[in-house]
Amino acid sequence: MKDILKEEDIIVVAGAGGFIGGHMVQRLLDEGYKNIRAVDNKPIGHWYQRPAGVEYFQEDLKLLESCRKVLEDSAAVFNFAADMGGMGFIEYHKADCMLSVLINTHLLIAAREFGVKRLFYASSACVYNADKQKTTDVIALKEEDAYPAMPEDGYGWEKLFSERMCNHFDEEFGIKTRVARYHNVYGPNGTWDGGREKAPAAISRKIAQAKITGNHEITIWGDGLQTRSFMYIDDCIEGTLKIFQSDCNEPLNLGSDRLISVNDLVSIIESIAGIKVRRNYNLAAPKGVRGRNSDNTRLQNTINWVPKVSLEEGLEKTYEWIYNQLLSGKHDISSR
Ligand code: NAD
Repeated sequence: MKDILKEEDIIVVAGAGGFIGGHMVQRLLDEGYKNIRAVDNKPIGHWYQRPAGVEYFQEDLKLLESCRKVLEDSAAVFNFAADMGGMGFIEYHKADCMLSVLINTHLLIAAREFGVKRLFYASSACVYNADKQKTTDVIALKEEDAYPAMPEDGYGWEKLFSERMCNHFDEEFGIKTRVARYHNVYGPNGTWDGGREKAPAAISRKIAQAKITGNHEITIWGDGLQTRSFMYIDDCIEGTLKIFQSDCNEPLNLGSDRLISVNDLVSIIESIAGIKVRRNYNLAAPKGVRGRNSDNTRLQNTINWVPKVSLEEGLEKTYEWIYNQLLSGKHDISSR
């Protein structure tokens, strides 16, 4: 990393109050970087992680002026800022999701103005063509499967458009842009309630709540047969830094290639919690595509690395963190 960014370089982390951005700030500090600008539009008291030794900004990065303010004299940008959530959010907030296009667009414009060397953009597996995700035993998605374009409406279109914008800024304006398509990232210090949480956090919360209250009954969205792959946050950060340093200006999958059903995910979390739950299926709830997995061939060929943390190990840490959040008393578990 130090051959690309010196310890004194100014690094901007956009969306630093969120899950992945918060972990990235901590990792950059651990690597010895001294001038990190952490930016989010949330009040700083609501951020998941607020380590010392960082410059904090509460700014709405949809605004070009805000992007100019935080990017001045910077060498690199990691863009994790987006209005996003699990299926329960993106299904009903398509316009909000698409408006995130302003964040990446204005960051790119400001980055060009200030001669920023590199910009990383967090894209998503939601860019992939829906026709290739219709069965539970789905063939893992290769990068070229995003075209012909038929992404997740709203959120996926914004990601696909922003990927292309990055690519053209790289080709025409000389700023090195790097893009990862994340496949379901999970771990501690992320959204676990409130409506934006994704399956691993939602199921961990429901099972932790069942354990604490003694009411061993949970609701699962869909029939539980839908499949996905899930990547632990440490792998996400490691892979992101490797992609950031690479010579590849095309989007790369960054995800686990272990396909698992939601029912099997529930079973793993049950065994971590040491309880069995009765499963009620809500077939009317938002479910997303039927199956989705990551083909990591290009990732392996490009950065010579793939995600490593097992689902069992990652979920154990995630469950424990969520269980402790519930026990902390800051949340009313009886109403969940
Ligand atoms: P998150 O919601 O925890 O973090 C995003 C942060 O962006 C939030 O703190 C939010 O307040 C901030 N933000 C939103 N609008 C902003 C604005 N106008 N100005 C400044 N900040 C703003 O989400 P995350 O899970 O950390 O995801 C980070 C990135 O990775 C996002 O771009 C997301 O789309 C992408 N991604 C995540 C996953 C996943 O599984 N978590 C999967 C695919 C892609």
